[in-house]
Amino acid sequence: EERLKLVVVGGGGVGKSALTIQFIQSYFVSDYDPTIEDSYTKVCTVDGKETRLDSKEAPHHTAGSGSEASLLLVWTRLDLFHEVQKFHTQILRVKDRDDFPMVLVGNKADLEQQRVISREDAQAFARENRIHYMEASAKNRYNVDEAFMELVQIIRRF
Ligand code: GDP
Ligand code: MG
Repeated sequence: EERLKLVVVGGGGVGKSALTIQFIQSYFVSDYDPTIEDSYTKVCTVDGKETRLDSKEAPHHTAGSGSEASLLLVWTRLDLFHEVQKFHTQILRVKDRDDFPMVLVGNKADLEQQRVISREDAQAFARENRIHYMEASAKNRYNVDEAFMELVQIIRRF
């Protein structure tokens, strides 16, 4: 059986827990304890192949230092992308690699009126840095499964 590990990383309050719980348990938590960094397992089928996905949450300053196989980077469009760039560069340096399986998730897509960074700018950023970018909403269950599935596909191709 295939077994993959992923770490959901991002700053406090971006929706790491909400996305994970929506993916694993299919409901939206509006007040999850920010100090809890649980780990979860879900068996899912991607491209007809079953995989056991072990997921845990971590603050971004710790990312890259562990033995994680892949990263789901969670940001919101309210944040500045140069922070993502800095972080991405740091991961590649720590991993000593040119590339690492990652998906950048722009969470809270439902808060369209609070958007600071346009979809176009976010996509341009992702292209320049060769990161797969998706907008998602843990609240509306928009692109939640898709983000995790995309990461599984990227790990398999890596
Ligand atoms: P974490 O610190 O990254 O784990 O963030 P949480 O998952 O605890 O979410 C922080 C806050 O943002 C909570 O109040 C969530 O309900 C809220 N939140 C998370 N995802 C979304 C989303 O997609 N849309 C909206 N509107 N709120 C969200
Ligand atoms: Mg959390």
